[in-house]
Amino acid sequence: MKKLTERIEHHIEELSKYTATPGNGTTRLSYSHEDLQARNYIKQQMQASGLTVREDGLGNIFGKLDGTIEGAPSVMIGSHFDSVPNGGAYDGPAGVVAAFEVAELFHQNNLKPKYPLEVVALVEEEGARFGGGLMGSRGMTGLLSEEEFKSLTDKDGISTVEAMQKIGLDSSLPKERDSKTMKAFLELHIEQGPILEEKNISIGVVEAIVGLTQFEVTVTGKAGHAGTTPMDRRTDALVAAAKIISQLPELVIQEGNGTVITTGRLNVFPNGANVIPDKVVFTVDIRSGKEANVQNIIKNMHELFGTHNQNGIEVVAEQRLYMQPKELNQGIRSLLKESSTELDIPYCSIDSGAGHDAMVFSDFTDVGMLFIPSKAGLSHCPEEWSDAEHIAQAVEIFYETAKKLTEVESE
Ligand SMILES: [Zn+2]
Repeated sequence: MKKLTERIEHHIEELSKYTATPGNGTTRLSYSHEDLQARNYIKQQMQASGLTVREDGLGNIFGKLDGTIEGAPSVMIGSHFDSVPNGGAYDGPAGVVAAFEVAELFHQNNLKPKYPLEVVALVEEEGARFGGGLMGSRGMTGLLSEEEFKSLTDKDGISTVEAMQKIGLDSSLPKERDSKTMKAFLELHIEQGPILEEKNISIGVVEAIVGLTQFEVTVTGKAGHAGTTPMDRRTDALVAAAKIISQLPELVIQEGNGTVITTGRLNVFPNGANVIPDKVVFTVDIRSGKEANVQNIIKNMHELFGTHNQNGIEVVAEQRLYMQPKELNQGIRSLLKESSTELDIPYCSIDSGAGHDAMVFSDFTDVGMLFIPSKAGLSHCPEEWSDAEHIAQAVEIFYETAKKLTEVESE
């Protein structure tokens, strides 16, 4: 029998063949010919591991190992299998492959769980065909209504329903799932950032999906002629804004905990080469896994703005967006760490700076998530690469965790 790592490498390689852009990364749009090829492969693997396979009205694929308790909720493991155009072979598939290898271990060891183990491969997480993203998980949890689903079209005007029909999928099957049918959801995903590689740690236990807040800041001064206004008579809004922006990084460096701050947009008025700017509008984007950190930054930022509110300069900040950080389930995080320790696999805590299907499920059931390193932090490109050894370690951790969550009776 092939070793776990070799099996994983093989699956990733097979799935990467189902691309509309051979030689130029993975392009696998939902309900495309390549989706159908990958879908058939995934279903075959699920069947080979003794799972009962079905698809829902969104085209999500489920493979289920029944539990001994009648009607008990499932411990679900999985990720998405669509891609962005010219993406990589790991974003999504790493998590799907990990899930079916956990089921394969249950199969090989002939485990009888009390609660069902369910492997899931989700559609349209990237939103590359129908926009918005996270469609498979949002549809399952009722966050995307039947009408909304039906009204979605791709760039050629083909609807979700038509596209599904073309590859033989039945969109009239049930989509929504009762939250009572799920006991937990586990997802492995590539980090898509540089942290784990730099730390040289193969497993990140995700503590939270970061919260996000955005401000629009308006600095007002006084316009004047660039040639005739002496330096000591100026109320230059851009000079003031530049000073403020240059002080922002220091605020989050003091705060720590991976908190980040970005000014990504700046508009200068009147924006003439020979006019002293009288108004500058810029954005501030703050992200952190802990709400307390976000709140501290906001408070300190307002104080900073206050110190610049003088000599004719006025600074006004308006909050435009506030999304709370989502802490993942404490119990599952502990189980994942416990399992890592038992297996002697070093791990570290990490926050997810991006949204994932796991985030959607976190309002629905108990969610746990693992990250593995991304080579050079690259993702959404053909160069995207992760180590199959790291996926194998995640499989082992999920296997131990799933045994506990499904309450396996004997081995
Ligand atoms: Zn992804």
